[in-house]
Amino acid sequence: MAKVSVILPAAGSGTRFGGERNKIFQPIQGRPMFLRTLELFTRREDVVQVQLVVSPADMPEVSERLGGQLRSMGVNLCEGGAQRGDSVRNALARVRDDADLVCVHDAVRPCVSPLWIDAVFAQAHATGAAILAYPVHGTLKNVREHVIRQTVSRENLWEAQTPQVFRTALLRRAYEQPTPATDDAALVEALGQPVSVVLGDPRNIKVTTPGDLALAEAVIDSLPR
Ligand code: C5P
Repeated sequence: MAKVSVILPAAGSGTRFGGERNKIFQPIQGRPMFLRTLELFTRREDVVQVQLVVSPADMPEVSERLGGQLRSMGVNLCEGGAQRGDSVRNALARVRDDADLVCVHDAVRPCVSPLWIDAVFAQAHATGAAILAYPVHGTLKNVREHVIRQTVSRENLWEAQTPQVFRTALLRRAYEQPTPATDDAALVEALGQPVSVVLGDPRNIKVTTPGDLALAEAVIDSLPR
């Protein structure tokens, strides 16, 4: 069994969500979203390390209110940076050397099934790099000022999700590049390394707006176990 070190970036500012608090604190089934996401990984036998990456602004609240609970779950806290990539890079520096794989999963994706995590871990173990993704089914429009400029072909287009899982040495090498990226696979792609895609599910949403929170609540009990 491969040993997996998990990084959960949770250090966003949540400006698209609105409100005063980071959306990671928003409740899903009565509990902060990030705790539910964490538990998907802390309960696994193949996971040897879990790091929650928290912004400097949220660190006092997380460590004072939840520090004890997180410690008992075996979760380490790590300080985040200005961009998502900075947050992942900070945690990557603390990944245990005996971890075969590093899994990066957004704290704001609480609706991932353990079966999908199994599938992407297995694929990354086999190929060295794998992510969950889902084919684009809608019609895509390039829009400016509420007017369509162009219809974009959806042929071969998939939307990247997380978890994204890589051999530890490969992700470390990818993060030596300064290129900004909105996901981790993009940095591995920039090395010219193949990244496998595992079929995800549209229910694995990234909670970005209050409407997404309602969707997450609605689908969470329907996930395969
Ligand atoms: O901003 P975005 O929607 O891409 O955020 C995805 C995840 O990355 C969220 O869980 C967010 O908290 C995290 N993030 C982070 N550090 C940042 C920005 C985002 O850990 N500076």
